[in-house]
Amino acid sequence: MRQTLVIRSAITSVLLTLRPVRARLNMVKTKKFILAKHFQGEPKESDLQLVEEELPPLKDGEILCEAVWLSVDPYMRPYTARLPTGITMIGSQVGKIIESRNKGFPVGKYVLGYLGWQTKTIHNPQQPSSSTMAPTYLLPDFGELPLSLALGVLGMPGNTAYFGFLEICQPKAGEVVVVSGAAGAVGSLVGQIARIKGCKVIGFAGSDDKVRWLKDDLHFDAAYNYKKTDVDTALKEAAPNGVDCYFDNVGGVMSSTVLSHMNPRGRISVCGSISSYNADAKQLPSAPVVQPSLVFKELKMEGFIVHRWLDRWMEGIHQMKDWVKNKELVYRETVTEGFENMPKAFIGMLRGENTGKAVVKA
Ligand code: NAP
Repeated sequence: MRQTLVIRSAITSVLLTLRPVRARLNMVKTKKFILAKHFQGEPKESDLQLVEEELPPLKDGEILCEAVWLSVDPYMRPYTARLPTGITMIGSQVGKIIESRNKGFPVGKYVLGYLGWQTKTIHNPQQPSSSTMAPTYLLPDFGELPLSLALGVLGMPGNTAYFGFLEICQPKAGEVVVVSGAAGAVGSLVGQIARIKGCKVIGFAGSDDKVRWLKDDLHFDAAYNYKKTDVDTALKEAAPNGVDCYFDNVGGVMSSTVLSHMNPRGRISVCGSISSYNADAKQLPSAPVVQPSLVFKELKMEGFIVHRWLDRWMEGIHQMKDWVKNKELVYRETVTEGFENMPKAFIGMLRGENTGKAVVKA
């Protein structure tokens, strides 16, 4: 009896000695990109610094996610100007839950969350951090479709096209719709939704290959390379009777020109102004005034942030999924391999190297 007790206590003391070692073995390391310097002009790879960090054990309510797909988006360029250096670079990702202390988010499921540019993240979905732009959610069943689409057509860009175009432009069959940034994540979907709604669609994009894709695969009625073609001349040719809806991704001179072609009571959905994202915020480029067009043609111009429609989020995703499955919507992704290449993918997307959605495979 006494011998058994001695053995038991010896085992306990060995286990106690091992406890810190076990804890260390369980330690999880993450790689992440820190915003080392605010971007000036075009972002440089050296503005972002790759670091490694150990993550603590999970607390109640938390999950540990492993990045599977990460997004690079235009908003990251202007948005970071308002944030301090030293933060983890902002962004959304599709993450796999690999550890969980939250019953609503079990191990093995996938989430969409604004978890930043990091490979592994501890996160409490019910207690979002200040950099969380929208709530983390479990991905709905995509069937055969790839999970990366949660960052594109079946995610934020898809809903930007769906709500931002339909709610603000209120297009009617037979109307003429112009889309700038037309071969990108959002623009390529807006043009196709406009076609589904029976509109005539004209797109502007930055290369001949993109223009070919818009015309041949997405069936735009007309498409132009804005780097080679004068926008005014193009619209005189493609929209001789004027433009009813304009979905604006780029802003600047191109948009002022499109506005001068609008029909009375036309609608303009202002989604973004990427043509000026690399400019100094205190010295933004100027463009011809648009007020005469707005006043004399009684135009309606409205900006939006897609998260306005958070309460209808899944409606957009399910509708886009149905259109993709029925082959009414075509999508394309430009995939960069490797987490370490996030900065390259980001810079490339801002330069126009992507067609469709730019994503990174971790
Ligand atoms: P994207 O179009 O897939 O990628 C960015 C594209 O912008 C590039 O491929 C490039 O295409 C184009 N671009 C770069 N510099 C340009 C310039 N100087 N002039 C004209 N085009 C230029 O990106 P996205 O995610 O679909 O976003 C498109 C726009 O929507 C952005 O302005 C973004 O900020 C905005 N957005 C807004 C919301 C919202 O809630 N309001 C949500 C999502 C996105 P080219 O080769 O054609 O130049």
